[in-house]
Amino acid sequence: MVKTEVIKITGPGFKMAGAAQVIKDGGLVAFPTETVYGLGANALDPGAVAGIFRAKGRPSDNPLIVHISDIDQVDELSDDVTVPARRLMEAFWPGPLTLVLHKKPHIPDAITAGLDTVAVRMPDHPAALELIRTAGVPVAAPSANSSGKPSPTTARHVLEDLDGKIEMILDGGACRVGLESTVMDMTAEPPVILRPGGVTREEIESVIGHVETAFWQGTVPRSPGMKYRHYSPRAEVIVVAGDDYERIYEKTAVLLRKYRSLNKKTGILASAETARGYPAEEVFTVGSRSSLETVAQNLFYGLRFLDLQGVDIIIAEGYPETGIGTAIMNRLKKAAGNNVIQA
Ligand code: AMP
Ligand code: MG
Repeated sequence: MVKTEVIKITGPGFKMAGAAQVIKDGGLVAFPTETVYGLGANALDPGAVAGIFRAKGRPSDNPLIVHISDIDQVDELSDDVTVPARRLMEAFWPGPLTLVLHKKPHIPDAITAGLDTVAVRMPDHPAALELIRTAGVPVAAPSANSSGKPSPTTARHVLEDLDGKIEMILDGGACRVGLESTVMDMTAEPPVILRPGGVTREEIESVIGHVETAFWQGTVPRSPGMKYRHYSPRAEVIVVAGDDYERIYEKTAVLLRKYRSLNKKTGILASAETARGYPAEEVFTVGSRSSLETVAQNLFYGLRFLDLQGVDIIIAEGYPETGIGTAIMNRLKKAAGNNVIQA
């Protein structure tokens, strides 16, 4: 047990030096990024990296993303940065895009889970960049949640999962994107999107042309993290998928009646367009269907909120799988353990 210090970065007199010192000393600091909160440690210190896996209860075969504060730092991690990779960095860094590159030998095996590649990203958040810069080392940082839970988008979420297990939480308010980064394997030709996220396929293709997607590769996913049950609240989750929201609404209402008649405490994760129509114990509105960015921002917050209310079942409305909708549906389906009903 350690004492977990929570520090507001917007507070008067805040200095990053203290947090950077914790990283330099091999400790763990949770910090805000534009995607979700990250759990940071010195990426070049195997002992510190082991601490991340311990605090999260993360399986050791799931590699970590290394965060940098400057594009040039990528050359300390990989000596094989291709032209398309450079173009993506220039277009989207700092931002929610992670690139999988051939790794240099000095990167600890714990980071890469023994793979010969390393995942790298430059986050678009002033506090994250300042922490990495002040620590003076690349910072390994998976999402700052207990493994399997929805990712944290506020400092309170981090505290709920990791209180007593990490040295420090930097509180920078709610995260702007709300979903994790897009992960791209740049060692493949053409490059492959392994995890949909904050940067969309459409945006990527506008810069480097056609890319493949492989969110699942049979039973052995190329992105090891994608095989685990993930983003899951305690409650059972059902996703109602489809393109037509009136049909999604009708199907969700039918399911709601069914579970209420079984005396289940129900929660609905709804869009603003339909939220008022549900006689559920709890309805959480993630935002309007006309702004999928807002839906993404509130998604994990809503799953965690409904869980805190102690519902037995969460019925989540689905969204069209284009743009950021692809990432939204990927997270919802994983939260539901693929319990998806077509409207
Ligand atoms: P998290 O930081 O918790 O959002 O998870 C990082 C994601 O990136 C997981 O799905 C990992 O499996 C994936 N990842 C990290 N490093 C690599 C790598 N070298 N090759 C493929 N996927 C990776
Ligand atoms: Mg994660």
